Amino acid sequence: RKGTAVITGASSGLGLATAKALAETGEWHVVMACRNFLKAEKAAKSVGMSKEDYTVMHLDLASLESVKQFVDSFRRTERPLDVLVCNAAVYQPTAKEPSFTAEGFEISVGTNHLGHFLLSRLLLDDLKKSDYPSKRMIIVGSITGNTNTLAGNVPPKANLGDLRGLASGLNGQNSSMIDGGEYDGAKAYKDSKVCNMLTMQELHRRYHEETGVTFASLYPGCIATTGLFREHVPLFRLLFPPFQKYIIKGYVSEEEAGKRLAQVVSDPSLGKSGVYWSWNNNSSSFENQLSKEASDAEKAKKLWEVSEKLVGLA
Ligand code: NDP
Repeated sequence: RKGTAVITGASSGLGLATAKALAETGEWHVVMACRNFLKAEKAAKSVGMSKEDYTVMHLDLASLESVKQFVDSFRRTERPLDVLVCNAAVYQPTAKEPSFTAEGFEISVGTNHLGHFLLSRLLLDDLKKSDYPSKRMIIVGSITGNTNTLAGNVPPKANLGDLRGLASGLNGQNSSMIDGGEYDGAKAYKDSKVCNMLTMQELHRRYHEETGVTFASLYPGCIATTGLFREHVPLFRLLFPPFQKYIIKGYVSEEEAGKRLAQVVSDPSLGKSGVYWSWNNNSSSFENQLSKEASDAEKAKKLWEVSEKLVGLA
């Protein structure tokens, strides 16, 4: 049978390119879990995906209620869940003030981390039930959260501190930042990506042996053309793609990045669990090292426990 992969945020950028790459193999049915139904339908058509290869389902990660509803609706389709890809993200580098999710969490961490945290915890049961030979859960990471890299050292750097802001609710009353500091939109995004990478490793430690599910993260390269930068200042949007292409040389097209993520979904040689994948200049994959903070097992455990409380699992 075809595999079923759920991809969050498949209405643009990396998620869409991955959906297309998987659909083209003829071996996958892609559930595009998106907040904007019409946009997702149009996007699927625009890249030439055929009707039988995908289903669009509503998911707004900035609402825990919506996450639960998505899980219910997915279960009602009676499709097995073989692979979950947590890809959606918001990035608000120029915001002066924080905005908040339906439950009142700062929106970058609320969407990118807490929404996906609840989704992955709930869908783990569905993955367990699947009889697919290689079941996987993938959380898209980023170099920007990794302070052991050049890009990760551009200020403001990611830093979760002792998680005091998160523990106090991340609702702007005490703080809207995980470390309890002043609001900074770019840092909030980077922090959320560190959370994504910590969560993947904690899932691996807790569930890989018991379930056989492969847990993985990746940095697909800098896809300087995606909508992720839509809220950046115009000059940045103009100069960032050529800067990445010719100077940093980390640039990767949406199509190539989609193929990389599709490999992490289905390539038999990328089936190892607990790995953060990256690609070198000739596009071969390798197991990359995470920064000290992004591989801190104690922090991962604490993040897990605090996040469980915030999303109502504990
Ligand atoms: P895009 O902005 O193109 O895509 C982000 C997707 O997330 C969109 O489909 C968007 O939906 C969706 N999304 C945003 N908020 C929500 C929400 N509340 N509920 C559901 N979906 C939501 O960015 P990219 O494709 O670049 O980003 C995809 C992933 O890749 C992210 O995890 C990002 O961190 C990561 N990444 C990107 C890099 C890059 O250079 N671009 C580098 C490294 C990692 P909508 O279409 O409705 O806006």
